[in-house]
Amino acid sequence: MGTCKFCGKEDRLISEVLQVCRACILNEDWEIIKPHIFSVHSGVRKLVELPEKPPKAESSSIKLKCNYCINECILSADDVSYCGLRNIQKKNSGELPFPSKSRGYIHGYIDANPTNCCNSWFCPAGTPAGYPKYSDSDSPEYGTYSYAAFLYGCSKNCLFCQNSSHKQFSKRNLFESETLANQIVKNEKITCLCYFGGTPEPQLPFSINLAEQILEKIEKQDKKRKFRICWEWNGTGRRDLVEKCMQIAINTGGNIKFDLKSFNKKLNLALCGISNRRTLENFKFLAENYFGTRGKEMPEMSGCTLMVPGYINHEEVELIANFISEINPEIPYSLLVFHGDYQMRDLPITPKKQAEKCLKTAKKFLKQVHLGNKFLLGFY
Ligand SMILES: [Zn+2]
Repeated sequence: MGTCKFCGKEDRLISEVLQVCRACILNEDWEIIKPHIFSVHSGVRKLVELPEKPPKAESSSIKLKCNYCINECILSADDVSYCGLRNIQKKNSGELPFPSKSRGYIHGYIDANPTNCCNSWFCPAGTPAGYPKYSDSDSPEYGTYSYAAFLYGCSKNCLFCQNSSHKQFSKRNLFESETLANQIVKNEKITCLCYFGGTPEPQLPFSINLAEQILEKIEKQDKKRKFRICWEWNGTGRRDLVEKCMQIAINTGGNIKFDLKSFNKKLNLALCGISNRRTLENFKFLAENYFGTRGKEMPEMSGCTLMVPGYINHEEVELIANFISEINPEIPYSLLVFHGDYQMRDLPITPKKQAEKCLKTAKKFLKQVHLGNKFLLGFY
């Protein structure tokens, strides 16, 4: 049971860590709410030794400028990047080398197809789509594998993070792209690779390079082999890198999944710690330039939203679905059932009623709407 510091309301749908209800985030004086939200996120980040906000060193002390994501960290000698992957002191001591184009902090494993990926309801691994150009199977690809490429680090600070282990990594998680590419290509049952995390943005150059090395090796060894590459991300990446990923996904028969966590700016800051501006801009840019270029059967990208009880309700879904539909109502959209995790373990699983209402709302705007991880659906 959480209490809102501002209106005094007590409810099991108010996060104990955030201590502010949805109505107050949206309607109360933002000059009062904003510092509270910032202090909550700072406190949470200190616990895991991450900087309170993206560091912006002065010109005389700059050691590194990183511009792979919206945070555009500028580090001085004792700074750590917002994502945690670039720590100048730990780099100098040899404890934590920087990731680069040719090496990244990654946990890779194989997952039987069709996986529980949010896009398996329309991709070649989970459906007959893409046969014969992007898949050798005219049904779901049973007996094949997806290479799950879990990338450490994240450019957001979602209090409900469903994969918070991305914050715990060491030198042992650093792998050369060349070594990984060889391992992946060697297993002929792997038909696709999906980057997720954390989020791929802080290591986009690595993810692109690994993808290109895999494709080059396949091209040399077996031109007929199908190998799709997908990205699942929060959308905060630099425009040219994001576009490069989209092109690789399109050419290989893969797709890109955007986490559209909220549409409202204030709600996004409250739940995720940073702005959603870049995410919405990148989504719009890619959708306007690439969606539909491969034909109707193979959607190039999708959006998805986690239905956080008390915060991401049908009103928020309406704003997101409307945003997507104004670009193109054919873009696939998934609603995901929430389970308590990370700093929001006190919130219940998305109630069935909320999920149904969100689903109904999204369907008013979009033609392809899907409800993911239904098995979690709770009643209370
Ligand atoms: Zn309140």
